Amino acid sequence: MTKKVEFFKHNLKQSDIFKINKVIKSNILTTGKCADSVQKLLSSFFNVKYSLLTNSWTNGAVATLLAMGIKKNDEIIIPAMTFIACANVIELLSAKPILVDVDEKTLMISEEQILKKINKKTKAIMIVNLYGNMIDIKKLTNAIKRKTKNKIFIIEDAAHSFESKLHGHNVGRFSDVTIFSFYATKNITTAEGGAIITNNAGLYKKLLMTISHGISKNFTKRFYNKNYNHYQMNILGTKANMPDVLASLIPDQLKKVYYLRDKREEIYNYYKKKLKNSSINFPEFTKGCSPGYHLFPIFVNPKIRDKILFFLNKNLIGCTVNYTSVTKFNYYRKKYKFNSNQFKNSENWGSGTLSLPFYPRINREEQDYVIKKVLEGLKKYE
Ligand SMILES: *Cc1c(COP(=O)(O)O)cnc(C)c1O
Repeated sequence: MTKKVEFFKHNLKQSDIFKINKVIKSNILTTGKCADSVQKLLSSFFNVKYSLLTNSWTNGAVATLLAMGIKKNDEIIIPAMTFIACANVIELLSAKPILVDVDEKTLMISEEQILKKINKKTKAIMIVNLYGNMIDIKKLTNAIKRKTKNKIFIIEDAAHSFESKLHGHNVGRFSDVTIFSFYATKNITTAEGGAIITNNAGLYKKLLMTISHGISKNFTKRFYNKNYNHYQMNILGTKANMPDVLASLIPDQLKKVYYLRDKREEIYNYYKKKLKNSSINFPEFTKGCSPGYHLFPIFVNPKIRDKILFFLNKNLIGCTVNYTSVTKFNYYRKKYKFNSNQFKNSENWGSGTLSLPFYPRINREEQDYVIKKVLEGLKKYE
């Protein structure tokens, strides 16, 4: 086989153009009826009261932090093993990301570490459902309540876990607010996009403003009602709403999420079966978790990680690193001067991990080729 094995292939079809066409014909391109109806679908999918579509996870998170009233020097606890966006959104509000190490096996934020870092300034904790895994948020919430009477928001970063369940419950069940990404390589995609779900009426009321410049009338109400509506602005907002043009791509994908999740599970298990008799390590899932499966990360000796990565690239296999520990990026390293001893698991995983091509459309021949080349690379460099 000589053809390139892409790192990712989306599941949109040429016929999806008809969905976009319908929006174009309606003359309302931005957030309107289509987004409204998709939000209703999401609320019923997750069995929550409120859903809001956003134009990215990042902007949705900024809107969320603004809605929570996060201010300068407020502290938000996040795992060091995550995508930098999680820390960036906190920095953008001049608040302080409090990075903590992750569990050695699951790479999920550690409850023990969280409890150590909670103090009077702690306003929120961001749980990142890395690779589609989840943690027991109910247990965590009870432990936090024993430690402090202060309200601490629990935010779930569900960019990897749209389809995940823990003990039969979807994401969003036990957190204050859950944020999704529909970025180009995510399981559901609108090229750029995301969503926020919550059961908190107060937060939702504020989110309606913070996703829209902080103003009180949304887009369709301002422009398309018969009579012009004056608006007020009382709290600071960003611009995070998703246009109907993109929202139109979601309903069809929603119908297939569990079908595609099961396909990814099959692909996941095949990789694992074929690679498990090597020196490679894999992340473990929490007991009771039915993962949504996003990404296929492996862990090799950090000394040869880049050699393997570039060997696979040379053999036309798309690979990435998900992720380098946030503590290793210059901006954060210089600003916070971390003590590496406190981030051993995150930094070690980040220096030895690489992600293999992983998506429902990868075929057996391509997967076998990737497996063959990974094992060849290990033999060559170990
Ligand atoms: C993709 C991703 C984000 C950022 O999503 P955008 O929609 O690109 O802003 C945040 N967190 C995690 C874990 C991600 O994988």
